[in-house]
Amino acid sequence: MTDQPVKRRSFLQGTAAAAGGIILGSPAIVSAEPSEPTVIEEPFHGAVLNRRHGEAVEGGLKIQVRGRAPLRDRVTVNGTDARRAGNRFLSQLVLREKETEIVAVSEGSSGRREHRVRVVWDRHSQPRYRFSIDDNSFFLRDIARKKYDSLFDCFYLKMLRELHEKYQARFVLNIYYTTGDGFELPQFPDRYKAQWRESSGWLKLAFHAYANEPARPYQYAPADGLIADLDKVAEQIRRFAGLETYSPPTVIHWGMVQPAALKPLAERGVRALSGYFQRVSAGWDVNYLFDDDRSEYLSRHDALKDFQSGIVFSRVDIVCNNTPLDQIVPTLEPLAKDPNQAEIMDLFTHEQYFWPFYSNYIPDHFTRLETAIRWVSERGYQPVLFHEGFLGGQEP
Ligand SMILES: [Zn+2]
Repeated sequence: MTDQPVKRRSFLQGTAAAAGGIILGSPAIVSAEPSEPTVIEEPFHGAVLNRRHGEAVEGGLKIQVRGRAPLRDRVTVNGTDARRAGNRFLSQLVLREKETEIVAVSEGSSGRREHRVRVVWDRHSQPRYRFSIDDNSFFLRDIARKKYDSLFDCFYLKMLRELHEKYQARFVLNIYYTTGDGFELPQFPDRYKAQWRESSGWLKLAFHAYANEPARPYQYAPADGLIADLDKVAEQIRRFAGLETYSPPTVIHWGMVQPAALKPLAERGVRALSGYFQRVSAGWDVNYLFDDDRSEYLSRHDALKDFQSGIVFSRVDIVCNNTPLDQIVPTLEPLAKDPNQAEIMDLFTHEQYFWPFYSNYIPDHFTRLETAIRWVSERGYQPVLFHEGFLGGQEP
């Protein structure tokens, strides 16, 4: 807004808005811009803040609140006068509750404006990681067909158990109702139930979609269809693996649902969902159809709360099937150094790449997982499940 025509337009708008006010001197002096909003720019609405985002003080977290407001206005933040510098304002605030509403109020000759944001304080936050695997169905078909004595005779679950025994890793497997070639969950026997239950501390099953095809099944689907599919899969998981093994969904297939589906999902126990929140030419993708602002924010932060649904969204930090073995550590390393992304590692991959019959089979897929899990384990990240506590940590 530094070029001349814009300045002049602002001035004219200002004059009109002043509606008979006295104009003194040249336009350069009468530079008040009544249309300028009062905006809290930091923290972001829905931000999940931990000790990396401020200064720990007795019983709270002291954070900076920054924004902009009309140059001549007096600005308060939660009742305290903010410092001004040009059209900027800056204030400090101590978060003491799980959630805090931050209110910036500006008052001046053109009236009173305010902006409210709400933030979450992850009071007991500790470095943690969650491993989830999407698109699962082949291993269930394998076990049902081969009628193994043990679940862990299936090489896939055996490998996951190895990672659990070696690193205490925990997994949530997001499953389909059908492989699409005749196998459906009702065909899976309940005779492994005791084994599922025994393993339920580290191995969970969750709904992902009805089937792998079509792609993006819920992007434009009404919420009822999604919830009906979820209920069908949930019922089967409980039948053959027990309530202990059941987890609410952690990723919906393709990470795309209608905004109206979020509340019904929350009513089914969903408290956290993961996506890529990645920039593509047409905007943002695998972002649950979030707006650009929130998608961009999540693309470089661990988490963001959507207060309307109550769901916390997490950005996937690594997709092992897309990350060559020698790029696993270089992908994680910079994240661990970024205060906005260091606290919660959302590790992720897809089941199909483990299977030699799959067209895009990845022979070193297990090694990729182990490399990622070893790296976070060695750096003190604790294995968690996002549906336990707050994103796997102690409730704030
Ligand atoms: Zn999927």
